Amino acid sequence: MPKKKLYIETYGCQMNISDSEIVGSIMADANYEATENIKEADVIFVNTCSIRDNAEQRVRARLREFKSLKKKKPELVIGLLGCMAERLKDKLLIEEPHVTVIAGPDAYRDLPKLMTYVEEGQKAVNILLSSSETYEDIEPIRLDHNGVSAFISIMRGCENYCSYCVVPYTRGKERSRNPQTIIDEATDLFAKGYREVTLLGQNVNSYSWETEEDVFNFAGLIEKVAQIDPLLRVRFATSHPKDLSDELIDMIARYPNICKAIHLPVQSGSTRMLAKMNRKYDRTWYLGRIEAIKNRIPDSTISTDIIAGFCTETEEDHQETMSLMKEVGFDLAYMFKYSERPDTAAAKRFPDDVQEEVKGRRLQEIIDLQQQLSLESNRRDVGQRFEVLVEGFSKRSNKFLFGRTSQNKVAVFEARDFKPGDYVNVTVTDCTPATLISKVVEDISVSE
Ligand code: SF4
Repeated sequence: MPKKKLYIETYGCQMNISDSEIVGSIMADANYEATENIKEADVIFVNTCSIRDNAEQRVRARLREFKSLKKKKPELVIGLLGCMAERLKDKLLIEEPHVTVIAGPDAYRDLPKLMTYVEEGQKAVNILLSSSETYEDIEPIRLDHNGVSAFISIMRGCENYCSYCVVPYTRGKERSRNPQTIIDEATDLFAKGYREVTLLGQNVNSYSWETEEDVFNFAGLIEKVAQIDPLLRVRFATSHPKDLSDELIDMIARYPNICKAIHLPVQSGSTRMLAKMNRKYDRTWYLGRIEAIKNRIPDSTISTDIIAGFCTETEEDHQETMSLMKEVGFDLAYMFKYSERPDTAAAKRFPDDVQEEVKGRRLQEIIDLQQQLSLESNRRDVGQRFEVLVEGFSKRSNKFLFGRTSQNKVAVFEARDFKPGDYVNVTVTDCTPATLISKVVEDISVSE
């Protein structure tokens, strides 16, 4: 039977990208072949994100565009996967009548069966959450195609219940994947030429796998993955500050191939806001973790997430965020205005009372400050030498390649005859807030 064509469009976090690769694999076993050409698709799956209202609005706009595709090709199947599917459930079938498949994040194994219902002319929904599903036996197809870096999902779900966050409701209980399957997947990727894996979870620090003799934590897992080969770089995301242990910091320091880039979302610099957000740490605790990182891994970059204008945030709270940013000197930050999500604790208990224009102004101040901090961080690298893992040609010119330093900064340098997957030593000659302009150091790269 000829294969059908599946087009997957992914919104949101790295976990969603990883999930789309799992979906691609499940559907490949059911005779669906992934395509990047939406026009030739028999099935379009949209893997969605609910973290902010504008993420949902973007999906809604996209669904309206798909409506016209379906008019031209009535047999086209449109499915909605992920967090929005879980949050809105079969309400979506009424609001978006051209969508005929709805599957939550724990229901992807069921997709081939749901497709058979649709072929029989029905609409199909599975939004059951599971306390055990980790898809650990599924070998994801790799959708990124760079052949150098890949995501490995090591756990699913979250039980932290930050008051603003919809994830515990859309992704269910926290569960960790068998470490051996993670090590096998990373080993296989390395054998296929990949040189970087990112271990993914909503809160990787609370990874835990119990056997009769032992409890395997995240520090133990990352060590095992780092030991696969010194040429395999290991990254991870995301860490919760409350769980960032000294043991893990020491492990990062010990292995050169565990990347020196820690993403530690702070969300706010105000202890009052952090309590309202139910983050389970305060400003002092956070700064203590930063000090521990700086003492033990002085060459590590630190990045963060920040929310501007959370419920009841005052000018003083906002200034505390600004002062914390300066004190830490974040190398990079992802910054957002607070967006109330239905059914979260914050939506139920706190007024979303910071005016839109005030939120916007505070966010802009945070962005401006971060631009300055990122530029200062990159300027400190000028004159320094770094090892870069080549990912591909620079967007501007085929005469230049780009890659990342261990610190997760993008460096561009002349292409010569290097190829993706090579390690190249460079010296930084100049910078922008986002890029290190570099020249190749005339000696052997690690891969040689
Ligand atoms: S740790 Fe908090 S912000 Fe992160 S996914 Fe869990 S509830 Fe959401």
